[in-house]
Amino acid sequence: MRAKDGIRLGIHASISGELAHALREAAELGCQTVQLFSRNPRGWEARALARAEVWTFRRERERLGLDPVIIHAPYLINLAAVDPAVRERSVGAFRQEIRRAIRLGADYLVVHPGSARGCALEEGIRACARAIRRAVRGMRMGALRLLLENTAGQGHQIGWRFEHLAALLEELADVPIGVCVDTAHAFAAGYDLVTETGLAQMLAEIRTTVGMERVHVLHLNDTRVPRGGRVDRHWHVGEGHIGAEAFRRIVSGALFPARSFILETPRRSLQDDRRNLARVRAWVASAASV
Ligand SMILES: [Zn+2]
Ligand SMILES: [Zn+2]
Repeated sequence: MRAKDGIRLGIHASISGELAHALREAAELGCQTVQLFSRNPRGWEARALARAEVWTFRRERERLGLDPVIIHAPYLINLAAVDPAVRERSVGAFRQEIRRAIRLGADYLVVHPGSARGCALEEGIRACARAIRRAVRGMRMGALRLLLENTAGQGHQIGWRFEHLAALLEELADVPIGVCVDTAHAFAAGYDLVTETGLAQMLAEIRTTVGMERVHVLHLNDTRVPRGGRVDRHWHVGEGHIGAEAFRRIVSGALFPARSFILETPRRSLQDDRRNLARVRAWVASAASV
């Protein structure tokens, strides 16, 4: 029912206090889907999930009708690392993250492909594929699917061109894995999403590389970085370099069959999320009425 039900809109919600807090926050904002961290995203150590916490999370998700539930992996994980210590730590942490996502009954686990400092891009891609293969080894994934997110191409990041993601998908043909497209990252990486022809060109590239059917989630973020700036700076939708007109096209109907949109825009209070969500809803409504 997920894809046929129209747009499912959500935010990256806060887990302050307990994980189910994120679900309640998203529901309070009128969201149909949600993304969250399963733990502090900036540290290596994760506190163990208590059985009651898992149970509450699953029950609340059901009660609030949130679907899909998306977990974003911690930022320290670097699956493309050539340094053996970082690589081992990253594989271990990612494996643990997969386990947490399965226990919580999440649908997707989003991860950045990583940074290949000190080696060629192709080598970084191969290292990332190997790391993911090791992280899922022997794991019963159930309904969970991993999603590789396109990056802004900052520093030595890999995954900022869709062909990098396609190469990873190809190496991981037997792993349940797809793609999450972040609009701010794509723009910073040089894709021209702003003009109609630029967007059409990017979509054509997605079709011929990863394949549109592998794109399960869109991160709708504007950016303060000019096109090709290769830096990751999310901004309120419609107020950055991508702009309202481009977003109206992006959310309109047939372009992306993936109908789960997540906002990862800055928030000082829930008011910021309310404003960004209202904008997206208005764009969807105006696109639907054309
Ligand atoms: Zn991300
Ligand atoms: Zn993102």
